[in-house]
Amino acid sequence: MSKKYETVIGLEIHAELSTNTKVFCSCSAEFGGETNTHICPRCTGQPGALPIINKAAVEFAVRAGLTFGCDINRYSRFDRKNYFYPDLPKAYQISQLDLPLCLNGKLELSTGNVVRINRIHLEEDAGKLIHDDYHGESLANYNRCSVPLIEIVTEPDIRSAEEAAEFVSKIGLYLKYLGVCDAKMQEGSIRADVNISLREFGSDKFGERTEIKNMNSMRGIQRAIEYEIERQTELLEDGEKNVQETRKFDDAMGITKPLRTKENANDYRYFPEPDILAVTFTDEDIENIRKDIPLLPHEKVAKYVNDYKLSEEDARVITLEKYLSDFYDETVAIYPEYKKVANMFLTEIMRRVKDTDAEEIPIAAKDFAKIVEMSETNVVNRNDAKDIIRVMFEEGGDPMEIAKAKNYIVVEDTSAISEVVDKLLDERPDLIADYFNGKTNVFGFFMGQANRALRGKATPMSVKEYIEKALKEREPKQ
Ligand code: ADP
Ligand code: MG
Ligand code: ZN
Repeated sequence: MSKKYETVIGLEIHAELSTNTKVFCSCSAEFGGETNTHICPRCTGQPGALPIINKAAVEFAVRAGLTFGCDINRYSRFDRKNYFYPDLPKAYQISQLDLPLCLNGKLELSTGNVVRINRIHLEEDAGKLIHDDYHGESLANYNRCSVPLIEIVTEPDIRSAEEAAEFVSKIGLYLKYLGVCDAKMQEGSIRADVNISLREFGSDKFGERTEIKNMNSMRGIQRAIEYEIERQTELLEDGEKNVQETRKFDDAMGITKPLRTKENANDYRYFPEPDILAVTFTDEDIENIRKDIPLLPHEKVAKYVNDYKLSEEDARVITLEKYLSDFYDETVAIYPEYKKVANMFLTEIMRRVKDTDAEEIPIAAKDFAKIVEMSETNVVNRNDAKDIIRVMFEEGGDPMEIAKAKNYIVVEDTSAISEVVDKLLDERPDLIADYFNGKTNVFGFFMGQANRALRGKATPMSVKEYIEKALKEREPKQ
């Protein structure tokens, strides 16, 4: 059966900015902290306390806007969005309605679909409620009140669950590269509201949409969308219409449930925020912010391929996460053997961090640079270098010290090399004959045997040279 309905999705992504302080006061904006310690009269809405705007938050938002190709409004304003909720002690949120910082951007997905970004505005986060079912009470933690957020709103251009997930993860990755958000979904620093409707293929009118609030995992986003597609398809098949409403996703049940009928802007009685001046920029201000934008993932791939001569595939893997490419960059800044560092990085580092959420490599880049150099210059052999990296990961320590303690340092002993190789060759005249009859893999056999016997006493390079010489001496005369 061919598919009858097209999926239409628009996202509203909230990203917490990683500024040191909150957006309208000087309290710490750090995640966590002891309950109700990152607070002051401003972020808890005490009468008479006035907000002061955090310049870094504005710059972070503009950095994101420029990266996603937005126009930056030279004159931007804040508005009060009024509503009561126990985690919002002011009973209003300072946000931006009709003059946001950034308008009209876009981001391309791997499907080739270019998703338009309607706007990016700056606003403040609310606190957090902790529901204690056992004692039947709810507690409020205001540490998160007024942590800066940007909201990125897309046009309804996304066409599948996979595209939605890719969009969210790509936004997160770019924000991390920009240094404006740590994009840790599990800590809530990226949350997405998913708007979804269906329409018959070929129709130019959108259907009524459902808004699924506050999705905070990639898997959840996909499952919620898949469930909604099923639910709305059934409605349409039964000749009914979807109703515009806000729903939430129940992760355990794998279904969405109604929360409330959709509110609209009027319900919030928005009005211009009287306590904050408008934000204005000159062209020079904007250029100064643009100058601070670091290399983005696709630009790093290009640099690795063009300047460092890595394969496109390797360059992609290293740039999959910012902390990985930062570590690689730091290493090659110390030991600029780009390919050699990449090879060891892709095997020995990647496999140890790829299944962790820590986003951290527990060894120092300078120590990694040192062990790669030790391996490349035959101070230790390659397999021992790998074992040293294992020890560095598991126990820490300096690579040279570990190498000494484990007797891995190669001390060349030329008489041992000739002794071992000559003996090996003299025991196997049959193989030497094979070799000169064109069976060149015999060479590899001798290499393997000799390296094993000479561990710690010779570099593979010297062993290779000596075997070549010894074979030549044994070449049968015509
Ligand atoms: P509101 O002001 O009610 O929040 P917006 O026009 O700002 O509505 O849209 C909010 C989000 O909903 C945007 O991401 C937009 O792309 C998306 N959206 C709007 N209409 C639809 C629709 N019919 N189907 C799916 N998504 C939609
Ligand atoms: Mg909205
Ligand atoms: Zn405060």
